[in-house]
Amino acid sequence: DRMISGEQFEDEHVIELSLRPTSLAQYIGQTTAKENLAIFIQAAKLRNEPLDHVLLYGPPGLGKTTMASIIANEMDVQFRTTSGPAIEKAGDLAAILSSLEAGDVLFIDEIHRLPRAVEEILYPAMEDFCLDIVIGTGSTARSVRLDLPPFTLVGATTRAGLLTAPLRDRFGVLSRLEYYQANDLQEIVERTASIFNVKIDSAAATEIAMRSRGTPRIANRLLKRVRDISQVKGETKISIETTDQALQMLQVDKTGLDHIDHKLLLSILDAFQGGPVGLDTLAATIGEESQTIEDVYEPFLLQQGFIQRTPRGRIATPKTYQHFNRPLKQSD
Ligand code: ADP
Repeated sequence: DRMISGEQFEDEHVIELSLRPTSLAQYIGQTTAKENLAIFIQAAKLRNEPLDHVLLYGPPGLGKTTMASIIANEMDVQFRTTSGPAIEKAGDLAAILSSLEAGDVLFIDEIHRLPRAVEEILYPAMEDFCLDIVIGTGSTARSVRLDLPPFTLVGATTRAGLLTAPLRDRFGVLSRLEYYQANDLQEIVERTASIFNVKIDSAAATEIAMRSRGTPRIANRLLKRVRDISQVKGETKISIETTDQALQMLQVDKTGLDHIDHKLLLSILDAFQGGPVGLDTLAATIGEESQTIEDVYEPFLLQQGFIQRTPRGRIATPKTYQHFNRPLKQSD
């Protein structure tokens, strides 16, 4: 597994549950999303209605699932979860929907991966809280309409653009989660350390924050590895030296880039003379999926200004040349 992937590792599930903040007040950073949601939640509670459907989007590991569970907590309702790839047939979703209780939050992770036939069940469910199902086959087939309790759908996806327009249009609240600022990540690292019951030097917490690609999941994961090394060394408090050493061992550089980022950027610099290079060509060159590059690796590199997207493909920026101590490409 890639240390600095925002995606969840298989064995991370349990530990993440224990680290998950449970109220908006405990949710660090994401001020805009948080403030907006706080108002919508308060208004819905005043009206005694379920909250509008919410779409949370942004790169993996930024806290979409966490935010969804907080919405349920703040609304004081049950939190039910599933995911796009887990629902194969329309009947699977119908079963989930018909088991909801009034006001429940239904969270669908990776909602862009719902099969089309399943997605169509969602339209009337979201709009009119009802389920159109077909009973029987052939000439005896008929459609019946079942009422559902009012509920809140919270969908999560890496990019809002991956959703079909009819699905996207049925969300009343669209909320984009951003990469975290270093000071917010530092607070997250310190909070996690206290849950782990370990002491950490504030310089060490800053260092982890700076090298976590703006992503809480990565910050927590790096902290876990750093803690291991610190404990083996017999430290009573995680030091900056140990942190630096551990992150070097994990091949995470000063800006949070790892060997795959290096491979990607160096390939643009060396194999394509700084670009432009098309996504598919780049993917083939470094042996990764285009989709993975676009969803997982590239957003951070774009946000940090290591690459730029042009109509003709990706190009390296002066920052990239500098990062690898290369002389800037002379313009023709
Ligand atoms: P996503 O669903 O976007 O992939 P998660 O909600 O699963 O991300 O978050 C990953 C982990 O990061 C969670 O277990 C949680 O501990 C931590 N986390 C995310 N956002 C925050 C936050 N704002 N404050 C504190 N911890 C957070």
